[in-house]
This record gives sequence, structure tokens and C-alpha cells, in this order.
Amino acid sequence: MLNADLHSHSTFSDGAIPPAEVARRAHARGVQWWALSDHDTLAGLAEAAAAASELGMVFVPSVEISINFLGVSVHILGLHIDPQDARLQAGLANIRSARLERARQIGDRLRACGIEGGFEGALRHATNPSLIGRVHFARFLVDAGVCDTMQQAFERYLGDGKRACVVMQGASLEDAVAWILGAGGKAVIAHPGRYPYKPARRRSLFSAFKDLGGQGMEIVTGCHTQEQCRQYARVAREYGFEASRGSDFHAPGAGRVDLGGLPDLPPGLVPVWHDWVGG
Ligand code: AMP
Ligand code: MN
Ligand code: MN
Ligand code: MN
Repeated sequence: MLNADLHSHSTFSDGAIPPAEVARRAHARGVQWWALSDHDTLAGLAEAAAAASELGMVFVPSVEISINFLGVSVHILGLHIDPQDARLQAGLANIRSARLERARQIGDRLRACGIEGGFEGALRHATNPSLIGRVHFARFLVDAGVCDTMQQAFERYLGDGKRACVVMQGASLEDAVAWILGAGGKAVIAHPGRYPYKPARRRSLFSAFKDLGGQGMEIVTGCHTQEQCRQYARVAREYGFEASRGSDFHAPGAGRVDLGGLPDLPPGLVPVWHDWVGG
């Protein structure tokens, strides 16, 4: 099967290496179709496209949009979008404008836990201050010796519902899907197994997304266990979603899988790339 890795991050959001380096790593690890999908920005796509083309790897311009659905921060991937689309650009700029203030609030919550200097510390880890996020706080907490690992920082302070987590305002589901479709892309629910919903609310996300014209769901991802892959493969078949595959790479040595290292999609699913022309 095609080695498609359609979810990864660079220093333009909360990844640790720049787009050209992510491209080289993806290529070296056998990726044939690669998407850079930074959070809420298209700014890394030009560098990524140039690097991929030099390597002879098919590049899929993408973005991971932060939305708020029923009080939970959900991620919608826009795959194969036109980076020049003005409405998508404007919508993302609007999301970014709320991130800095939210980071101040996370800093305040950490101070209430007895941890000083969180906001300034996270800011030092963010290459792009308008994309400051929880990963930068996690890096600060590890650097400052408060936590042993990033995972521990999320478990103790930053994960959904934990003491220092402030939910991203983000866009609405309606807006995100409309921007993606308007930019000629495919809307895909990222890592559906990760959201802390009760089953009924999770299903209402899937049906609302489907009704709005959302096409796909991430099935094989570094965020899912094998059981979750099987579970969401069933959901995709039931709703008629196309299936995506992406490592959600952030940094060498971090996360469960590296670029290009995922298992194939389960059988009986239509891959999101089935109607893309490339190569
Ligand atoms: P933000 O956009 O600031 O809400 O941060 C979300 C990012 O934090 C995600 O894209 C992941 O990179 C990371 N993240 C969220 N939850 C976890 C977790 N439980 N463990 C590790 N990383 C996480
Ligand atoms: Mn991230
Ligand atoms: Mn995500
Ligand atoms: Mn991601």
C-alpha cells in the first residue's frame, strides 16, 4: 500500500523541527505522500512544498484546525487545500489571535499550582508566538524540572480537563468545514479516539460533521491504539467516511510512531487520497 503520512507538525506550530527537516525525515523513512498539517497556520507550507519537490516526494498541503464542539477542543484536518485561499487564511488568523491570551491564562493556572514563570517559559519554546500552545508549556515544565516527561506534563497539568488546561476558543465546526471545502480540500476528523466525550456526544460530532459535508476520519494515527483503529474503522464504514492515515509527528523521539511508521489502513475503507492525482 502507498506509504501516505498525512499528519505532521513543524516549528511553525508545535513541532520541534522546521518543515524542510520534517520533509527529509519523512522521505528517509519511506513516506511517498506527505502532508505538513501545522495547527491553525499555512505559513510552513511553501518551505515544505519546496523541500518535498526537491526530494521527489508528493506533497499534500494541509492544516489542522482547532475548533470547539460542545466544550471540547477538537481538531479538524484540512487535507489537500489551496494555501492561497483568502477565506481559509482569514479564519485561521482569527483563531491565532486568541492563542496568546489563552497562554496567559494557562500561565495563571500554573502559578495557582505553585509553578512560576510558565507563560514566559512557554513563550521561549514557541518559535511562532501566535501559535503558542500546550506543547510549549509541556517543554517548559520538563526543562524546568517540574515534570520528568512531556507525557507527565499532560497527565498532571495540561491534558484535557487537567488543572492548567484552558480550552481553546477555536472556530466552530461549521466554519472549519466550510473553510476547508471552500479551499478545495477534504475535511477529516483528526484522532477521533482522543476526545473526552461520552458516546452520545461523540456520535453527535460525527453526524454534524457528516451533515456539513465533512468527508473523512483519521483511522490509523499515532494517537490510536490498535483497538481504536478497529473501532473507528467500523465508524468510518457506518458513516461512509473516507479514511486517513497520519503519524501526528511532532519531534524526533517523541510520540508513539515516527513519520511513515504506521500500519496500513484496515481493509474495506476508501483512502482519502483515492481521487488525488500525484506522483
Ligand atoms: P493546543 O493546541 O495548545 O490545545 O495543544 C494541543 C496539542 O497538545 C496537540 O496538538 C498535541 O500536540 C498536544 N497534546 C494534547 N494532549 C496531549 C496528551 N495527552 N499527550 C501528549 N500531547 C498532547
Ligand atoms: Mn500538536
Ligand atoms: Mn491534533
Ligand atoms: Mn496534530
